[in-house]
Amino acid sequence: MPIPASTLVQTLERYFGYSTFRQNQQEIIQTVLAQQDSLVLMPTGGGKSLCYQIPAILLEGLTIVVSPLISLMKDQVDALRINGIAAAYLNSSMNPEEQRMVFQQLRDQELKLLYLAPERLVDAENRFLDFLRSINVSLLAIDEAHCISQWGHDFRPEYRMLANVKRALDNIPTIALTATADPITQKDILEKLQLRSPEVFISSFNRENIYYQVAPKRNSYEQLLDFLTERREQSGIIYTLSRASTETLAERLTQDGFLAKPYHAKLDNKTKEQHQDEFLRDETPIIVATVAFGMGINKSNVRFVVHMDLPKNIEGYYQETGRAGRDGLDSEALLFYSYADVIKMQGFVEVEGNDEQSRVLREKLQQMAVFADMRACRRKYLLNYFGEEAPDYCGSCDVCRNEYKTFNGTIIAQKALSAVVRLGERFGAGYVIDFLRGSKSEKIWAEHKQLKTYGAGIDISKKDWHGYLNDFLRLGYLKKSDDKFPVLQLTEKSWSVLKGQEEVMLVETIEPQTISIKSSARPMEEELFNQLKILRRQLAQREDVPAYLIFSDATLQELATYLPTHSDDLPGISGFGEVKIQKYGAAFLDEINQYCTENDLETRMSQLRRRSRKKRSAEVKTDTKQLTYEYYQQGKSVAEIARIRDLRTSTVSSHLAYFVQNGSLNVTELVDSATITKIEDAIYVHGDSALKPLKDSLDDSISYDEIRLVIAHTQIGED
Ligand code: ADP
Ligand code: ZN
Repeated sequence: MPIPASTLVQTLERYFGYSTFRQNQQEIIQTVLAQQDSLVLMPTGGGKSLCYQIPAILLEGLTIVVSPLISLMKDQVDALRINGIAAAYLNSSMNPEEQRMVFQQLRDQELKLLYLAPERLVDAENRFLDFLRSINVSLLAIDEAHCISQWGHDFRPEYRMLANVKRALDNIPTIALTATADPITQKDILEKLQLRSPEVFISSFNRENIYYQVAPKRNSYEQLLDFLTERREQSGIIYTLSRASTETLAERLTQDGFLAKPYHAKLDNKTKEQHQDEFLRDETPIIVATVAFGMGINKSNVRFVVHMDLPKNIEGYYQETGRAGRDGLDSEALLFYSYADVIKMQGFVEVEGNDEQSRVLREKLQQMAVFADMRACRRKYLLNYFGEEAPDYCGSCDVCRNEYKTFNGTIIAQKALSAVVRLGERFGAGYVIDFLRGSKSEKIWAEHKQLKTYGAGIDISKKDWHGYLNDFLRLGYLKKSDDKFPVLQLTEKSWSVLKGQEEVMLVETIEPQTISIKSSARPMEEELFNQLKILRRQLAQREDVPAYLIFSDATLQELATYLPTHSDDLPGISGFGEVKIQKYGAAFLDEINQYCTENDLETRMSQLRRRSRKKRSAEVKTDTKQLTYEYYQQGKSVAEIARIRDLRTSTVSSHLAYFVQNGSLNVTELVDSATITKIEDAIYVHGDSALKPLKDSLDDSISYDEIRLVIAHTQIGED
C-alpha cells in the first residue's frame, strides 16, 4: 500500500520546513518506501539527499548512507541534527571514544541515519558487517554512485564491494544516487551494484537559477573587480588554472578590499581546512581555487562561480558552475574566454603515450571552446551536450538576453575560405590570419606573399578575424583537423560559398560595456537581510556549524521580504521546520519586529499566503491524480472510482493514463492485449496527435478511454 502523498508532504514540512517536493523527489521516495531498488540521476544541488532522508525518517530501523566524502559527512549530519533527526557518522577522523559512542547509539537503536565511507564496510573478518546484521537496517543509500564505475571520472575501488554488502544484508532495498548522467556510467552502476529490477529516475539537468555568461578575456582582473563590486555581500568561488595564480589573485583581491582566500591541493592541510571552513562559515566570502576545491562543498549560498581560465571540458565546467545556487536562488556563472586559452589548454590535455585518449580530450576541449564562442543559447548547448532537449531560447544566458544584429558576411567568408585553399589547407588559424592581413613577418613564406589573397583582409583586425574564423567553424564552413596543431580545412559547405551559391550571415559582435548581469529586483528589505545574516552567523558560531546549515539564504530572503512578526507566521516560511522554529524562531522574530518598528513597516505575510495558495492549487491537480491512483490500487474499477469521486470516467482514465505514461501502471491491466495491438497499429498509421481520426478508424467497441491509455503507454518516459 503506497504511503499517501499527504504524509510525505507533512514529513517534509515538519522536519525540513519545505512545503513542496521538487521534480521527482516524491516518486523516488515512494519507490524507496515500496522497498524497490532505484537509481537517481539528479544534477548537483537538485535535492538528492531528501530522497533517502525522508524514507529514513519514516522507516523503522536504520538507513546507512555510503559516501566517499568525509568532509561532507559532518556537514550532512549536522544539518540533520539541527532539524531534529538522529544521525551520526563513522570515519577515520574520529577517536575510539567517539566511535564507541556511535556504536552504543546503534545498539540502542537511537539513530535513523548512519553515514559511512565505503572502506568502513569491509574489514578482513567482516566484523562490521556482522554487527550491522545484528541491528535493524532497513535501507542502503549509496551517494556518488558513479564512483563504482571505471568509466566515471572518479572511480573508487572500494565501491566495488558494495554489492556484497547489499547481499550480506539480505538484499535490503538500495537507492543509488549520482549527478553524473552519461549512459555508460549509468548502466555500470546498475550492473556493479546488482540492483534488482531497479527504477531509474532521471531528472532534468537544467539548473534554471544559474545565469550563464561569457566575457572576453581582456583586462580580466579589472572586469572581475567590477563584477565583485556589484556583489559586495555575496559569496562565490573563483576558479583559476594554476595553484600559483590562486594565491596571487587572492592576494590582489585582498589588497583591493575583498575578503578572499586561496585553495589548492598543495597548501598544507591545516591551511586548506581553515580556508574552507572560513568560506563555509561566510567569514571569507570569496575563495580562489583550483578545481581541487569543491568536491565536498555543500554550501548552499554560493551566489557566483567565476572561471578566470577556460575549463578543459564541458563536464568540468558544468560541475563547477553547478556549485552555485544550491538554495535555488538566482546565481551566476561567469567565464572569461580568449582564444589564446584554447591554444594554451591544448598542451594540458595531451596524455603522453595515449593518442586515443588525447584525441578524445582535445575534442572535449574544442567543444568547450565552441560553448565559449557561441552566439546561440548557452543553456541549450549545455543541455544538448548532456543529451537533453531544450528550447532555442532560455532567457537567462547572456546570448538570449542580448540582441545581436546579423549582417551579410559572404565576402569575408570568401576571403577566408580562399586563403585556406591557397595555403593548401595546411595552416592553422594564426597563420591564415597573418596571411590575410598581409603580415610582413618572416614567418609568412615568401611564396605565399606572392599570392592574390595575401593581404586581402587587412581591413579587419586580428581579433575580429579570430571571431569570424570561429563563426565559420561553428557554422560548418570550415573545419579543424584533429592534429596536435590543428590546421584549417574546407568542408562541403565551403564550396557553395566560394562559388557564390550560398550567403553567409554573421552576427555583429557587441562589446560588452561593463558586465551587467540581470539583477532581479525583489521587494526585499536589504538592510534587514544583512542583519539577519549577522544573526545567523552568531547562532552558527555558537553551535559551531556553518551558517547555511542554520538557514539558507533563501529562507532569510523570505523573512526579509514577508516580514513575519508572530510565531504563528513561521511555519509558512520555507526552511522553518518544527525544531528550527523552536530553537531559532524567537531570535529571528525579535530582529524582524525591531526592524519593523524602527522603519514603520508592517508584516507582509498575507502576500506570501496568497502566493502559496496559488502554488498549492497547482499541486492539488497532481494530488487528484494521486487519489484516483490510490483508489485504483485498492482494486476499484474505473467506473467505481468515477462514481465515488463524482468524476467522469474519461477524467478517471486520463488520471490513470498519467500513471501509465510514467511507468507506474501497466496498460495491460486496463486494456486487453488484442485491443492494444489494434490501437497501436492505428497510431502507427494516423499518429497520436488527435484522438478523433484514431477513433474513427477503429471498431466502435473501442473507447476513447482505451485509446488514451494506449497512447500513454506508447509515450512511457516522455514528459
Ligand atoms: P544534491 O545532493 O542533489 O546536490 P542537496 O540534497 O544537497 O542536493 O539539496 C540542495 C539544496 O536544496 C539543499 O539546501 C536542500 O535543503 C534543498 N532542497 C532539497 N529539496 C528541497 C525542496 N523540496 N524544497 C526546498 N528546498 C529543497
Ligand atoms: Zn539562453
